[in-house]
Amino acid sequence: MTMCENSTKAPMDMKAYIDQAEQDLLHTYNRYQIVLDRGDGVNLYDINGKRYLDFCAGIAVFALGYHNEEYNNALKNQIDKLIHTSNYYYNVPAVEAARKLKKVSGMDRVFFTNSGAEAIEGAIKAARKYAYLKDGHTDHEIIAMEHSFHGRTMGALAVTGNAHYREPFEPLIGNIRFARLNDMDSVLACVTEKTCAIILETIQGEGGIFPADEEFLTKLRALCDERDILLILDEIQCGMGRTGFMYAWQRYGVMPDIMTTAKALGCGVPIGAFLMTEKVAAHSLAAGDHGTTYGGNPLACAAAEKVLDLFEKNHIIEHVREIAPYLEQKLDEMVEKYDFIETRRGVGLMQGLIFKCPVAPVINRAVEKGMLLINAGTNIIRFVPPLIITKQNVDEMVSILCDCLDGMTAGE
Ligand SMILES: *Cc1c(COP(=O)(O)O)cnc(C)c1O
Repeated sequence: MTMCENSTKAPMDMKAYIDQAEQDLLHTYNRYQIVLDRGDGVNLYDINGKRYLDFCAGIAVFALGYHNEEYNNALKNQIDKLIHTSNYYYNVPAVEAARKLKKVSGMDRVFFTNSGAEAIEGAIKAARKYAYLKDGHTDHEIIAMEHSFHGRTMGALAVTGNAHYREPFEPLIGNIRFARLNDMDSVLACVTEKTCAIILETIQGEGGIFPADEEFLTKLRALCDERDILLILDEIQCGMGRTGFMYAWQRYGVMPDIMTTAKALGCGVPIGAFLMTEKVAAHSLAAGDHGTTYGGNPLACAAAEKVLDLFEKNHIIEHVREIAPYLEQKLDEMVEKYDFIETRRGVGLMQGLIFKCPVAPVINRAVEKGMLLINAGTNIIRFVPPLIITKQNVDEMVSILCDCLDGMTAGE
């Protein structure tokens, strides 16, 4: 940056912005000490122009990479046309986005939300209403999984399997029982005649990259069919092509009754959705039961619509299937190389390296060296890069990460 004689204000340096932020924003995050300014492809740049290779993608959001021209133009066009109108009227982007989302998911009905947590809230309401219409009772139970993460609102927190997140805010919604992922007996032990739904992430994200296995999902599906319990799959993080399937459950063909999606759906514009089969739609939320001011507004839906178009046009899923084995191979080589890395776990471009020690120092070093990574729990580095990454990007990531790890010992 050159100093310009007639500039009235020198650019605030990074530290000044950070200090200002720490005075003004509620301190709910321990943020990395960088101020990001712009993005291009898989790279982000801070306000001083320093480049960061981004293997985090705004937490599995920016699937198409930054500064995608077609996506940006679609948004610009929609801004000039219509940004918002109430859900009391129809709008074309919502109609188109819903149609396309149905097509890629195989689900029958869509409700657009502004976030993942809101999609979970809607899913829970739909399940409770479904059970209520069946027997007129109001004391139905939901089975959720230990180590799950479904969001920070009161309903989503109630089904989040991490007591540390839940406890300070109790009482949350009641009648939630926690079972263990991939442990059918633990689920059966929770089932009662009041059980109305079982909710899980098809691949647990925040909880440590734990995929639900095929046998478990198949058995859950059978149990739900047998007892008319609704299976809710949270695809907010693992969905949208990340596993090499549009939705991770499609890998096993175990279809949910209700599904949630968000994160990459808008690629940065806040939008989520809960979807359901016609069976649930016909016997759950009706006019007046649920609503949102912003949810499904034309701008957000124009984003989702364009994202779905670009997934198809740019063969994103095929690309993930092609590049993911390379990422897996490179991560496996790191497991071999460093004895303080225990193992790798994950599917497609949702991977975790499980360390025998806390990963925070590694991630901090990576930021200094120009790469963004996130953790999942204390000991896991999570890789949820933009879906457009290339082999060269993987190589650069591995090279920077090895730089950070060389000379490190498990005790560090
Ligand atoms: C991020 C996430 C959520 C919450 O989404 P928000 O948009 O942050 O509310 C819910 N479930 C899963 C699996 C997530 O990864």
